[in-house]
Amino acid sequence: MNMKKLLCLALALTMVLALAACGGSAPAATEAPAATEAPAEEAPAAEAPAEEAPAEDAAYTTVEEGKLIMSTNAAFPPYEMVADGEGAYNGFEGIDVEIAVALADKLGLELVIDDMDFDSALVAVQQGKSDMVLAGLTYNEERDKIMDFSTSYANGVQVVIVAEGSSIASIDDLANATLIGTQRGTTGYEYCVGDYGEDHVSGYDNGALAVQALMNGQVDCVVIDSGPAQAYVAANPGLTILDTEYTNEDYCLAVNEGNTALLNALNSALEEMIADGTVQSIIDKYITAE
Ligand code: GLN
Repeated sequence: MNMKKLLCLALALTMVLALAACGGSAPAATEAPAATEAPAEEAPAAEAPAEEAPAEDAAYTTVEEGKLIMSTNAAFPPYEMVADGEGAYNGFEGIDVEIAVALADKLGLELVIDDMDFDSALVAVQQGKSDMVLAGLTYNEERDKIMDFSTSYANGVQVVIVAEGSSIASIDDLANATLIGTQRGTTGYEYCVGDYGEDHVSGYDNGALAVQALMNGQVDCVVIDSGPAQAYVAANPGLTILDTEYTNEDYCLAVNEGNTALLNALNSALEEMIADGTVQSIIDKYITAE
């Protein structure tokens, strides 16, 4: 098979995979995209004349040539945290960090990690200051209006942290909480404001500060993603996670709204890494199944 045919096939495959992306009307499942859903008519594309360059492969540009800038909040274990041990990348480690290193490698770009508050990380990509936000970022329809989302690479769960012996013993009891601690700008914050009203929710700069407030008795509980929740509970005796989950979510990376060329390039690389097991092995390194 010649090179052009290969390219065309790759393009057809990319289009099929794109259907499974979070950017659609519904969040993608974490399962591998269903290639069988490809309309049979797409197949002849492989026979396209050699002269026709695949338009969808339009070159992407990045904020700084040769670099892939990732905005994130590195206080979100085990997805991104500050670290300088072996295996750390420029002072950071975690699932998202390793995925980003591999993505940049596949694209032949130098990864630059820009650490900031979570809500700022979302703004950075929208203002063209970063190329992508990779931050345990949950897909939702509101965000999809202002950013473009990749295929989902992991599953997230919002959980509730309480002090041991708390009168908040299930999700239903959240209605009785005077103050729920969350991280500003997160889905946990948004859900709690929607469900219990702004007066009952306090937004902190990061999860660690929300957990600190819980230990100081300033909030009754903290609603946060299960990954960091487990890390915070393990590090702070006297805290526990409620058995019932608040919500289940899909984590995706996001680029600025309309940055289709970059999203396609990142998605192709990410989907390869999902298909060949790279993503799962990175996740398994940090999260041990029970
Ligand atoms: N998954 C949550 C969200 O997207 C929290 C992410 C984070 O704090 N890094 O809102």
